[in-house]
Amino acid sequence: MAGRNRTDIDHELLKKVVDGIAVEIGNATEWGKNSDYIPELAKVDTRQFGIAVLTRDGKTIAGGASETQFSIQSISKVFALTLALKKHGDKVWKRVGKEPSGDPYNSIVDMERHKGIPRNPFINAGALVVDDMLLDDRAGDDIPDTVRDFIAEMIGEGEIGIDEDVVASEHTSGYTNKALANLAKSFDNLHHEVADVMHIYVRQCAVALSCRQLARAGRYLMLDREDIDDKVSKQDAERARRVNAIMLTCGQYDGSGDFAYRVGLPAKSGVGGGILAIVPNTASIAVWSPGLDENGNSLLGTLALERLSKRMDWSIFGAIRRV
Ligand code: GLN
Repeated sequence: MAGRNRTDIDHELLKKVVDGIAVEIGNATEWGKNSDYIPELAKVDTRQFGIAVLTRDGKTIAGGASETQFSIQSISKVFALTLALKKHGDKVWKRVGKEPSGDPYNSIVDMERHKGIPRNPFINAGALVVDDMLLDDRAGDDIPDTVRDFIAEMIGEGEIGIDEDVVASEHTSGYTNKALANLAKSFDNLHHEVADVMHIYVRQCAVALSCRQLARAGRYLMLDREDIDDKVSKQDAERARRVNAIMLTCGQYDGSGDFAYRVGLPAKSGVGGGILAIVPNTASIAVWSPGLDENGNSLLGTLALERLSKRMDWSIFGAIRRV
C-alpha cells in the first residue's frame, strides 16, 4: 500500500512460531486450575491447549486443539458491548464506566461505592448492565440470543451452539451475579427484570466456539486498513478501536496491567480458559487452555500469547525488531 509502510505478514514464520508454541505448551508441567464455581467448567480436562491466528489476508494458522469447542464465557462481553454501542452509541457510557476496576470480575463492593454504575463493561456487573441495554420488551424464553446471533454472523459459517449444560449450571450457581443484577436494579440501572437480564447473560456466556471460530469472530476488531471505506465503514472501524481500548485496559480484570506489560495486545479472557487477542490491522488470535491463574485468566493461554507477540514482534507498544 503506497506511502503506508505496510509489510506483508510472514506466514512461514507465523506457522513456525505457532507450531513451536503448541509443542512448548503441550509439554508444560503447570496448567493452572479450572474454574469450579460453574460446576460444568470444572469437568473439562485441564491439560488442553488450542491456538488459531487469523491474519488480515484471511489465512488461519492454527495449532493444538484448535477445533475443540469451549465455553467462551466473558469473551462474549466483547460482542455484547459492540452491539450496545451500535444500538445506543455513547449513551452506553452514562450507565457503565470505562475504567479498570482493580477488583475481581465478580466483585460487588464497587457497585455500591459507585451507586450502581459499574466500573467497566467487562466485569460481571458491567456486562449485566450492557445486556439490559440489549433487551427489548420481550421476556422469558422469548428473549432472542442476540449476542450468539451476532457472533455467528461475524464467523459467517452458519449457526453456532449454546451449551445448555453450562446454562443450567450457571443458573443454579450464579448467586453473585444475581446479587449484582439486583444491586444494579436497586440503583435504577437495570430497566428490565433481573431474571430476564440473567437469561440473556447466562446464555451468551455459554456460547461454545473453537479457537478457529473465535479468531474469525474477532476479525471485525482486527480490520484490514485496506477494507476501510470499501468493505467497512469508518463508524465500524472507530467502534472497533474503542472496543479494543476497553479490552486493553479492562479485558483481564485486575490482571490487565500485567497482561499489557507481558503481551501488549488488547484481549479479553473468559473463565472457560479462552482468550481473544487483537493485533490491530494485522491479526485476530484465539487461544484456549482451561486452567486459570489467580485472576481468572488462562494461565497457559496468556503464556502462549506472550510468546506469540514477542516472536512475531506484535506488541501495540512498538517494535523491537527492524523490519
Ligand atoms: N459466566 C461467568 C460469570 O458470570 C463469566 C465470568 C468470566 O468469564 N470471567 O461468572
